[in-house]
Amino acid sequence: MSSAKSKGKHDIIVVGGGPAGSTTARFLAREGFKVKILDARSHIGIPVRCGEAIGKETINDILKIGVPKDALRTEIDGFRVFSPSLKVIDYRLPKGEGYVVDRRIFDKELLKGAVLEGADIQLNTRVTKIKIDKEKGITIKAELNGKEITESAPIVVGADGIYSIIARNSGLAKPIDPIDLNTSVGYEMVGVKFEEPTMFDLYMGNEIAPRGYLWVFPKGESSANVGIGIGVGFAKKSVREYLDDFIFKSDEGKKRFKNAKIIEERIGAIPVGGTLDKLATDRVLLVGDAARQVNPLTGGGIAYGMESGKMISDTLVKAFEKEDFTDKFLSTNYGKLWNDAYGKSFGLATKARKVLDVLTDQQMDNIVETFDGEDLTKAVRGKWGQIKLGAKLMKKDPSLLKILRRALGD
Ligand SMILES: Cc1cc2nc3c(=O)[nH]c(=O)nc-3n(C[C@H](O)[C@H](O)[C@H](O)COP(=O)(O)OP(=O)(O)OC[C@H]3O[C@@H](n4cnc5c(N)ncnc54)[C@H](O)[C@@H]3O)c2cc1C
Repeated sequence: MSSAKSKGKHDIIVVGGGPAGSTTARFLAREGFKVKILDARSHIGIPVRCGEAIGKETINDILKIGVPKDALRTEIDGFRVFSPSLKVIDYRLPKGEGYVVDRRIFDKELLKGAVLEGADIQLNTRVTKIKIDKEKGITIKAELNGKEITESAPIVVGADGIYSIIARNSGLAKPIDPIDLNTSVGYEMVGVKFEEPTMFDLYMGNEIAPRGYLWVFPKGESSANVGIGIGVGFAKKSVREYLDDFIFKSDEGKKRFKNAKIIEERIGAIPVGGTLDKLATDRVLLVGDAARQVNPLTGGGIAYGMESGKMISDTLVKAFEKEDFTDKFLSTNYGKLWNDAYGKSFGLATKARKVLDVLTDQQMDNIVETFDGEDLTKAVRGKWGQIKLGAKLMKKDPSLLKILRRALGD
């Protein structure tokens, strides 16, 4: 252990105990750091603001954590994408697609994982301000049960979500352009009918979910997480009206949700403009929604934040060894890990999102009619050069060529 590691009470304070913060703390504690999580909530994971879907790769193969057993609701084999006129791409991935979890349990189990590795947690602690002293460390002001408290540490990790105070106080945050924000409403529903109870169902269309999609994710027997995320500024009515109109007024909704009941509601905002330009500065690193590590096309953020927690741990092992907590060291090392893993695919996903910004319903129908699941997966992952039915699509709908050229030329 380096000398820098053992001087104070804590080596690293992680602000926010969501999936990104807990996973960061877990890997840091495993490396032998004295880590403390501060979270404003009294119960991690509540309220839920999520579709609760997570892919398999990060959690199983990269982090080797696996989905906490008690949090798993459905193991998903693939996806079905419905076009505006309900044409469908139905695709089962060879190794399966992912999981639907119960985030109340998922988040708490991840926190438990961090604590079992040796991290400390203090609930009911809302951080209000940080002061960065490049030489000495970070001073944190927080409210604990209405009283102001002070904490200090050499390093602070901001895992405090989309409205991150750490991102703002450290100067890393930039204002979110409304075009880069999706607004979202979701329900947990019981009594939902499933033709395919192991598939993610996504509905597209400018009348259904402008610049976004509506999801039906099976969550255990006859339950579902049903929600919608749409682009701010693209909507002609409220986001809730879009969701309710689909569930209660459309033929498809009436068929699927005939006797279903809403047992829980969620609302939230999703940053879809790509990650912040810089993820770290002197003595401060950001992770998860605080760093806007959310896929610009799908709006998924759980896995990216968790994986970045491991990247932060790897970066800080080196930083403590070298006793180098400078902006240059932290932002270069952590930034490289992030960019090598996701820089390119996030760039392409942003371009794909811009395509979605302008697609007409007819064009969406044409895509769904022409592509198969493999091509759609490649399109979502930004592997546009590998799409095998691209030429067929361009022949069917030449207007798409102009849109693609504009998006790729940006
Ligand atoms: C409606 C909706 C649906 C979504 N669906 C999906 C999905 O299906 N799959 C997916 O991968 N992603 C989804 N996302 C995105 C996903 O929820 C986020 O990317 C993910 O929760 C980010 O994790 P995080 O740990 O960075 O932040 P959060 O989960 O937001 O956790 C932040 C933590 O910081 C704490 N905190 C905040 N401020 C302070 C403070 N000042 N002091 C102390 N603590 C503080 C909070 O209490 C909280 O515990 C969805 C988002 C929304 C809104």
